[in-house]
Amino acid sequence: ASPLLRVKNVKKHFLVTNSLGRVTGKVKAVDNISFEVRSGETYGLVGESGCGKSTTGRTIMRLIEPTDGEAIYRDKNIYQLKEKELLEIRRAIQMVFQDPYSSLNPRKRVGHILEETLKIHHIGNKKERMDRVMSMLNVVGFQPEQYFRYPHEFSGGQRQRIGLARALMVNPELIICDEPVSALDVSIQSQVLNLLNKIQREFNLSYLFISHDLSVVRHISDRIGVMYLGKIVEEAITDELYKNPLHPYTQALFSAVPIANPELKRERITLKGEVPSPLNPPDGCVFHTRCPYATETCKQEIPMKKMVAPNHAVACHLYN
Ligand code: SF4
Ligand code: MG
Repeated sequence: ASPLLRVKNVKKHFLVTNSLGRVTGKVKAVDNISFEVRSGETYGLVGESGCGKSTTGRTIMRLIEPTDGEAIYRDKNIYQLKEKELLEIRRAIQMVFQDPYSSLNPRKRVGHILEETLKIHHIGNKKERMDRVMSMLNVVGFQPEQYFRYPHEFSGGQRQRIGLARALMVNPELIICDEPVSALDVSIQSQVLNLLNKIQREFNLSYLFISHDLSVVRHISDRIGVMYLGKIVEEAITDELYKNPLHPYTQALFSAVPIANPELKRERITLKGEVPSPLNPPDGCVFHTRCPYATETCKQEIPMKKMVAPNHAVACHLYN
């Protein structure tokens, strides 16, 4: 499949200043990230909290302006677009968040909330908008009478379905899902994931799926990028990544999770120390302070992401 979105060398750095206004450090929240989301696929971005995956998602929509890099959507660099073209990108790319409730106006009926999206983008007349709302409510499994309900009348899982219906209203091509099931019970999680799969086929959608949850990401993704301290350290198609994780961080992350497949017995790798702060992160390989294989080279030279198999790339000096 051809790339729909190409993220190239994107950085988001923040300067930190003290009370006298003097710069005391730099937070490298996202540090030189490149990946692509192909048409019709789900690209999973996985990593622990604070690794920069949400910031990555938000810079694509320019909810946060990046420090550097490019995000090419079809043939347009999102970072160079003027207001009007940006509005069109914000139709084609939608976002779904962990807590849809915070973005659903409590005083408005669900039908009106969904209709609002069409109004922002000047789509349809009253009758057409109403038809579209009914049809999207149906797609996410609601009856027409839900139109008149208020957000607080729905459960967490139902609200996430409303969030999805709202994203679908404007016929997007790509949905950035930021921890969309993390606030839900496990049984509800699989319902929402199944719904995501169903509507992906139905509308030929692509997803950028951001999550800290390895089993969720595995369930939904075609390809996965593993993030650590603002960088993608490994990237592969899902099966390959779980069968043959190469980066020491990925290996440690996976070894901490019980594996359902008994053929994949793995030694449990325990990492020393905590994730360092993204404020003034380590030189060289950002993982060297915790890596059991770190050498002198690792402390000085940043490992570049290299292809080691047709669908597998890793950024680690062990694979030179
Ligand atoms: Fe470990 Fe070195 Fe590989 Fe980094 S580059 S993960 S420190 S072996
Ligand atoms: Mg996050």
